[in-house]
Amino acid sequence: MGRKFVVGGNWKMNGDKKQVTDIIETLKKGPLDPNVEVVVGVPAIYLAYVQSIVPSSIEVAAQNCWKVAKGAFTGEISPAMIKDIGSNWVILGHSERRTIFGEKDDLVAEKVAHALENGLKVIACIGETLEEREAGKTEEVVFRQTQALVPAIGSNWGNVVLAYEPVWAIGTGKTATPQQAQDVHASLRSWLAKNVSADVAASVRIQYGGSVTAANAKELAACPDIDGFLVGGASLKPEFVDIVNATK
Ligand code: PEP
Repeated sequence: MGRKFVVGGNWKMNGDKKQVTDIIETLKKGPLDPNVEVVVGVPAIYLAYVQSIVPSSIEVAAQNCWKVAKGAFTGEISPAMIKDIGSNWVILGHSERRTIFGEKDDLVAEKVAHALENGLKVIACIGETLEEREAGKTEEVVFRQTQALVPAIGSNWGNVVLAYEPVWAIGTGKTATPQQAQDVHASLRSWLAKNVSADVAASVRIQYGGSVTAANAKELAACPDIDGFLVGGASLKPEFVDIVNATK
C-alpha cells in the first residue's frame, strides 16, 4: 500500500480563541483533498476547544508532552490527558524544543516511548543545524537522532511519522531545495532499511518541514520520498489549504 500523504500544521505559540476558530473555519471550507491526512498542532491551552470544533476529517496534535502519566511536573501535560480530551497525536522533538528547551535525544526518545505506549500517534522531528550541514554532518546528525528513537518505537512504527526539518529552514524563509530534501529522505529510508527493517523503510511516512509555503509545496510534494509536510508559519494562513492539496 502506498504511503498516505500527511500534512501537519504546527501553530507553535500563536493564536487566540478567535484566530484558532478562524483557522478551523478556513480548513472546513477547504476543500481539502480527502486523500491527505491533516493534523493541526495546537497550543495546549486550546487543545480541548479545537478538538471540540474540528470536523472528524482533521486530527488534533499537542505540540509536546511529558514522559510519565501524572505527578509533580508543573506545567506539563501527559499523553493520557491528550487522549482524555479526544486528541490522538503529539509532535515531539521539534527543533525549538531541542534548542530553546534543551531537549536531548534521550529525553525525546523517552517521550516518544511513553506517548506510543499510551496510544498516541507521534510526529517525531529530526534535522540538522546550518553549522552541521556546512560541516557535512547532515546524515550523521539525522541518523543519530533517528537511532535514538528506534528502541523507543519498537514495533510501533505504524504510529510514527518522521518529520525531517533542517533547522536552518525553520521559520527562516529558506526552504531546502526539493533535491536537498529528497536526498535526506532517501538516505533516511536506506538507513531504516539497514537498521530497522525493509518494511519500515518502505512504509514509514517522512514529512519535510522548513518554510513550506503554497508556492514551493507542489515541487517538494512531487519528490518520491517526501510523504507530507510539517508546516509552521503558513499553517496559520489560508494557504495551508493549498499546501494540503499540493499533490493534486
Ligand atoms: C515548524 O515549525 O515545524 C516549521 C517547519 O516552521 P516553518 O514552516 O515556519 O518554517
